[in-house]
Amino acid sequence: MSKMPRSLQVEVTNNCNFACIMCVRRTWKDEKYGLLSPRLFSKIVDEIDDALERLALYGFGEPLLHPELPAFIKEYREKHGSSTHILVVTNGSLATPRLVDELFRNGLNELVFSIDSNDLVKLNKIRVGSSQYSLFQHLAESVKIASKYDGKISIATVLMRENLAELPSLVDKAVELGISELTISHLVTYTSTLADQILYSLSSEYPVRLIEGIGLEKWEKISHLAFRETVKSQYSSQELKWHAIYNEIYNKAVEKGYSLNIFNIRQALERKNMLEETIRILGEAKAKGEERGLIINAPGVYADALKRTCPYIDKDYAYVRYDGLVSPCMDLAYEHPLFINNHYKIIRRVIFGNLWREHLRDIWLKPEYVKFRNTRKEFSKNIPWCSDCNLSTFNCWYVDENIFDCYGNEVGCSECIYAAGLAKCII
Ligand code: SF4
Ligand code: SF4
Ligand code: SF4
Repeated sequence: MSKMPRSLQVEVTNNCNFACIMCVRRTWKDEKYGLLSPRLFSKIVDEIDDALERLALYGFGEPLLHPELPAFIKEYREKHGSSTHILVVTNGSLATPRLVDELFRNGLNELVFSIDSNDLVKLNKIRVGSSQYSLFQHLAESVKIASKYDGKISIATVLMRENLAELPSLVDKAVELGISELTISHLVTYTSTLADQILYSLSSEYPVRLIEGIGLEKWEKISHLAFRETVKSQYSSQELKWHAIYNEIYNKAVEKGYSLNIFNIRQALERKNMLEETIRILGEAKAKGEERGLIINAPGVYADALKRTCPYIDKDYAYVRYDGLVSPCMDLAYEHPLFINNHYKIIRRVIFGNLWREHLRDIWLKPEYVKFRNTRKEFSKNIPWCSDCNLSTFNCWYVDENIFDCYGNEVGCSECIYAAGLAKCII
């Protein structure tokens, strides 16, 4: 067991000068906003004994709004040397050549621009507030500056219906500018209004193909015939026949380790053309980028209940909010709504300590935090995947909030699309 986090994400501010359409900050109600105190940053730097593997200096907000960001990087380097990979994710608005030069000069390794389209009209529509800034000019100048310091400029993009068609031209633009890496994430739907924009199936692929092979209408008829008389205490022989057929199909999914959520399967089959188009465009983007030296991290289009892993647990990451509260990941740092599996849920924040009062090591080693991490090391085995379970769409009370799941875990990560590899965080 590691005695300290191997990597840290430190939210230098939760203020932002944009109001992007997909940003969780739009759903916040009573959150306070602020800047990370230099005193708190120094405390963190002092408490880390060995150098971290990675230090991500951003969170829910625009980090370049913090006037001390270059000084933070310098302070960390002076104390811990050069082995840590330090990265910052920015909306690009304030990435002026002067500031970018200072960041890399002080020891930044990677600056990631959040850019979702090469089409400025689309980009301004998604990244509300970006129209007054020269984002692509900042990007181009940053590439030149980073190369002086052997640094890296990357792009992070959120894929949705709105910008799918522009992905290949964004790849062209990234190649033309000399960008190192493009990470593509699917959209997290904090509100139901975003649900139409998604380009992925929450159902695992195996159940979708199973029902597709039988025929959706036929399956729905079998289910109906098998269950229409369930109020009766005794089944007729005819009903038992339909039950047997139903169970035979259902057990095929169970034998493979999956279950059947008919709502999500129906949605995947109804959106089949769109999912195939997404696979095609992602494949094209990947091939196009990689043959010209651009690394592309692309998400899957179908979830796979059996291949889930938590990116924060895998890398021994902890998330530190600007106010010193420590959370296991970005998604659990603030309370927010989530619309998933056709229901709303409240994601309650999960906080394991406060760095103003406690040592980072003591927080990391609290039994409840250790248990949280240990359970998630074998993620697919220990955490249910509600998207393959009919009950998630039909009133399972566990999914109203993220407090518990049906396996008895405290804190439910059972509807996390980061763990399903559909959404990607830059850490
Ligand atoms: S730039 Fe980032 S933090 Fe700011 S509104 Fe957009 S998504 Fe949210
Ligand atoms: S599974 Fe998701 S919600 Fe749970 S700790 Fe990992 S990233 Fe956070
Ligand atoms: S928590 Fe509820 S919806 Fe999720 S897998 Fe368990 S029973 Fe199904």
